[in-house]
Amino acid sequence: MRAALPAVSPVASGIYLRLSVTSACDLRCAYCRPGSAPSDRSGGAPRPASNDELVALVGEVARVRPIRKIRLTGGEPLLRRGIVDLVRELRRLAPRATIGMTTNGQRLAPLAAALRAAGLDALNVSLDTLDERRFGRLSPAGALDATLAGIDAAVAAGFEPLKINTVLLRSINGDRLESLVEYAAARDAEIRFIELMPIGAGAPLYPREFLSAADALARLRERLPYDGPLGARGTAVRHAMRADGRRVVVGFISPVSHPFCDGCDRLRIDARGRLVACLRGEEGVDLLAPLRRGDRAAIAGALAAACAGKGRAATDWPTRTMYGIGG
Ligand code: SAM
Repeated sequence: MRAALPAVSPVASGIYLRLSVTSACDLRCAYCRPGSAPSDRSGGAPRPASNDELVALVGEVARVRPIRKIRLTGGEPLLRRGIVDLVRELRRLAPRATIGMTTNGQRLAPLAAALRAAGLDALNVSLDTLDERRFGRLSPAGALDATLAGIDAAVAAGFEPLKINTVLLRSINGDRLESLVEYAAARDAEIRFIELMPIGAGAPLYPREFLSAADALARLRERLPYDGPLGARGTAVRHAMRADGRRVVVGFISPVSHPFCDGCDRLRIDARGRLVACLRGEEGVDLLAPLRRGDRAAIAGALAAACAGKGRAATDWPTRTMYGIGG
């Protein structure tokens, strides 16, 4: 039997659209896109969507439901050629939507100001550890210094509050969560700890690396002054803490211990123009072929079907990769 839908659809008042603009990444994180992952050019995959095509697809989504927020993700979005232009085009198309990006920060330093000027409102930078050796073990193709320089450039460019995303991993950060909170506090950034999901390369690591949000909060409360709960915003449950004498907002995103399907207003489109209604659902529906042949009714039908199913509780973890769809 399929799980029931909530009485009021979570997308009734608008959509949060996550646009994965490439599946390429330059970090090779063990839980996401390790070195063993297949190349983007393998398997005769169809031609990815151009910037114009991605913008056109966003326009089709806006015809079906208002878009309240667009997030550019990947793979690594800053590897996409023309990413600043894409932000500018989306800004023009959706002047009232919040436009955000999730990046690993490796190429952010030279681009932060241009992204801001093009109309990007919000930046989330992924940072799982401040320890160089652990960073190298987790993300062997990257450089910790580059991400830290990217964060500083983003703060200087006026992204406020910058958000730092940290996936909870026992052997990488479980014993040093407070150092990441202190780092965020020193930059007036907000930090969000995310539970590791058993998706893609995360699945084999999950049994030994998973740390729940509740355990992480308990660990932090033993080590830092706690100012009290701040309630939920989006998918994050937030708490106020103190680090180095500053107040800092610490969020926890718990897709494993507390799934948020009933309030999920996210739709996803990947770099090949596939619509994915649920991160935990399989596959996706091709929107690019109908776009290329001018079949707008097919696109509208697929979007309406995706919206109609929103709010249903997911039951399985799929075989998809996170770098293909962007979290
Ligand atoms: N390259 C960008 C980045 O590193 O932020 C954007 C894409 S990445 C897939 C988006 C987020 O998903 C990152 O914060 C990453 O740490 C997270 N992520 C990847 N695999 C995950 C997993 N199995 N469980 C939880 N989060 C995961």
